[in-house]
Amino acid sequence: MNNFIPLARPDIGDEEIDLVVEAIKSGWLTTGPKVTEFENKLSEYLKADDEIFSVGLNSCTSALFLALKALDIKADDEVIVPTWTFAATAQVVDWIGAKVVLCDIEENSLNIDVRKAEKLITNKTKAIIPVHIAGYPCDMEAVSKLARKYNLKVIEDAAHAIGTSYRDKKIGNFSDVTCFSFYATKNLAMGEGGAAVSKNNNIIEKIRKLSYFGINKEAFKRYEKSGRWFYDIEEIGYKANLDSIHAALGIVQLKKLDYMNQRRREIASYYRKNLSNKLVFNEDSNEHYHTYHLFPIRLPESIKRDDFIEELKENNIGASVHFIPLHLHTFYKNRSNNSFEVADKVYKSILSIPMCSAMSDAEVKYVVETINKIIGQ
Ligand SMILES: *Cc1c(COP(=O)(O)O)cnc(C)c1O
Repeated sequence: MNNFIPLARPDIGDEEIDLVVEAIKSGWLTTGPKVTEFENKLSEYLKADDEIFSVGLNSCTSALFLALKALDIKADDEVIVPTWTFAATAQVVDWIGAKVVLCDIEENSLNIDVRKAEKLITNKTKAIIPVHIAGYPCDMEAVSKLARKYNLKVIEDAAHAIGTSYRDKKIGNFSDVTCFSFYATKNLAMGEGGAAVSKNNNIIEKIRKLSYFGINKEAFKRYEKSGRWFYDIEEIGYKANLDSIHAALGIVQLKKLDYMNQRRREIASYYRKNLSNKLVFNEDSNEHYHTYHLFPIRLPESIKRDDFIEELKENNIGASVHFIPLHLHTFYKNRSNNSFEVADKVYKSILSIPMCSAMSDAEVKYVVETINKIIGQ
């Protein structure tokens, strides 16, 4: 293969470009009708039994942070976060001044181990943030049961899981707030963007207000007669609103999402069938709809992960590690005495190989052949 195959590249076509141009020409560059249209379409897409409410934001990180705020998580509260995740999931808790309590994961799903999470609960624990790693859903029944038992708020980090189903319902139907990322490499790509969704519209309107300086947009309506200039700052908020240019990308990407996720599943199925069976470990299931944001593999002990990644690079294949567990980072290292047996073990041998809907069949085949060749040596 002459061209480098990156870990992921966005699947953006002329339709996205045309709608972005339309958004720019419309004169509404920032939050406006295209954002509302995206929010409505997202709610409609996710809806199972009950109505879903959505607010578009500038990132999943903002969604997680504002969800904590809206659910009234405060300084000195404790929030349980899996150690196997990106920096964002934990740092938003630190921003609040609350305590991050890191939890170990399950070996095959890489998702939070709910039984271990229960052991970490104290009378200060107020929330838990499960992360659906690689697009495979957490055990939401166990999470919900735990939350009910200890009166915890549940905020899902669904950065990898737009379109994922847990049993017969899409992620977005299960907790207090679900946060999605539309970052460039995610399954639905805007470049930068995110959303918070909930069945509780009060929470979503609270997040909307916090995303724009604590200004109540209803204030515009209430005082319509006094002119469009009126606004009321009801509390201290932030600046995290989604703009129309990114929303335009999102509207078209959302329309293509099922096709793109299906393509990922097709690639995953080819990997599962054809990669050396020493490597494939990750969970798949007929019960859930896995959207394969990532395809992690695990190497046998005889092969050094870092050398393997180098060798892939020499063969024009991108690879990466998702994630370096939080408890191994300088900042979080000395902040807990919890044990992370599974995360420590998995981390040594894991890597993610290329996975995105824009990959060609030839690229997928080349990745498999190259990996099997290296492993066979
Ligand atoms: C990408 C990612 C985020 C952050 O998403 P942004 O939209 O970039 O803020 C959060 N959590 C996980 C697990 C991620 O992979």
